[in-house]
Amino acid sequence: MLLGLVILVVAAFATPWRVMPPGTPTVPPDAARDFSAGEIARAAAFDAATSVPGYLSLGLTVLFAGLLVLTPFGAKVLGGLRGPWWVRVVLGVTVLTAIVEAVRWPLGVWYEMVLRDYGLSTQDWGGWTIDRLKGLAVGVVLQSVMLLVVVALARKVRRWWIPAAVGAFALTLLASFVYPVVFEPLFNDFRPMPQGALRVNLMTLAERAHVPVEDVLIADASRRTNALNAYVSGFGATRRIVVYDTLLRAPQSEVELVVAHELGHAKYGDVLAGTLVGGLGAAFGVILLYLLLEVVRRRTGIVSAADPRAVGVIMGLLSLATIIVGPAQNVISRHVEARADLHALNLTKDPGTFLSMQKRLAITNISDLSLDPVEYALYASHPSAPERIAMAREWAALNGQPQP
Ligand SMILES: [Zn+2]
Repeated sequence: MLLGLVILVVAAFATPWRVMPPGTPTVPPDAARDFSAGEIARAAAFDAATSVPGYLSLGLTVLFAGLLVLTPFGAKVLGGLRGPWWVRVVLGVTVLTAIVEAVRWPLGVWYEMVLRDYGLSTQDWGGWTIDRLKGLAVGVVLQSVMLLVVVALARKVRRWWIPAAVGAFALTLLASFVYPVVFEPLFNDFRPMPQGALRVNLMTLAERAHVPVEDVLIADASRRTNALNAYVSGFGATRRIVVYDTLLRAPQSEVELVVAHELGHAKYGDVLAGTLVGGLGAAFGVILLYLLLEVVRRRTGIVSAADPRAVGVIMGLLSLATIIVGPAQNVISRHVEARADLHALNLTKDPGTFLSMQKRLAITNISDLSLDPVEYALYASHPSAPERIAMAREWAALNGQPQP
């Protein structure tokens, strides 16, 4: 309970609830002001087409997790596995992942077909399949490591949840640190941005923002998608700013604005803060797991976490926790993203380019322009394009610039 309280207090104090200074004139978001009726209709049609496989996939995940948590299904499936306990843990993770993936695979194909219909995906089925299998393999490896630690501790220590909670915290930090150099290269090739005016401008921008940047990397995202994106990942020695190669099709001033936003994340240490809160959350999750195992042990036929068949209940609880925590994470993320937007506006003092960049992102990525409250809660890690554009107008009004 104490740890849960600490997480709430840290999240409450670290989240920039109010991004714009008090007294800023309010500009209501209005998609119709910046997007044509055709663009709004296309976004709505794309949203409707992707919603069906999206919600079905979510429903299946909940159903499967429910089965693992509330019935002896997991114990039955995993009871057939033979070998030393650690082999059964790894096999258990693999088998359960394979079962749920077999059901979800057609939904993934469906989703990908919509992306192709709308010209967003540039992949063929070979590339798509390899990507999907790699993603699953990464998931199996990470979950196996975690579950091996939990089951090993439960077999050795009576109060296993104490060292396991500390371990979960440490593993989260380690994973976030090594992710950019170990896992990201599995999916993309990265090269330093070539010498030239853009690189010089971006480095100058970083200097002006007082954010030390070793390098700006370009990811070969175009072999998978036409969507535009950039992000910061890692922290300390592995921190990097990554720009999709697709983004380089945009005018230089817009690329600079995107990078100015990413520099905001770097400046405020958003990745490190997110990792620390995530680590505390993982530790809290372990303790919750210990308590919930007591509650569901009669229903699932699993007496303790020392039983390798407990892999099923634990994976089920994990995926339910991920879904339940999502909307809260999104609320925090949207405020953190707004702060990075404000950083970009303050650094470039160019709300006009900010607006055209947001329009380009929304139109190219076919972003939802009129999210319903459920979608907004479940999926929106960023403010919507009309909200971000409205903020640029508020910034202009606050700083005595003409309305873009
Ligand atoms: Zn961002």
